[in-house]
Amino acid sequence: MASPNEVKKYLAHWFQLGKHVLINQGKTRILPEQIFTGDHYSQEFEDCWQQIIAHPHSDAYIEGTDQTIADLLSTEWEMISCARCTMPVPIRYVGLPAAICPCHDLENWPNDELPYPNCPVDNQVHLARIRYQLLNRFEAEKSK
Ligand SMILES: [Zn+2]
Repeated sequence: MASPNEVKKYLAHWFQLGKHVLINQGKTRILPEQIFTGDHYSQEFEDCWQQIIAHPHSDAYIEGTDQTIADLLSTEWEMISCARCTMPVPIRYVGLPAAICPCHDLENWPNDELPYPNCPVDNQVHLARIRYQLLNRFEAEKSK
């Protein structure tokens, strides 16, 4: 199954491309303006998330898709990367892929000139990785 964290990541990515989540039979459209605060999700995003999962049998879904968020949190679905744009897309665990990635109606996507939507970055981990790479390079130079 897709974990709540994976589904949040999926929403965060598509929110960054301007996709709304629709609830109440499509009458309410949700799109947080600010998705991150520093290295974690913003309060606004968390509030939207709570709103989206508040009703487990609700009809919340990303516009242009057929799977509800409740579907994605069920055991039948998991997240993979879209073959076309590498964004997270749900795939049915039993082997049937979702018919379409939400990117299908975005004319300007994929787009090398736009920043790819990202995850909150843990700066400590990021810095440790850079440091490790530099050390490795240094060692390699030394042993020449
Ligand atoms: Zn795609």
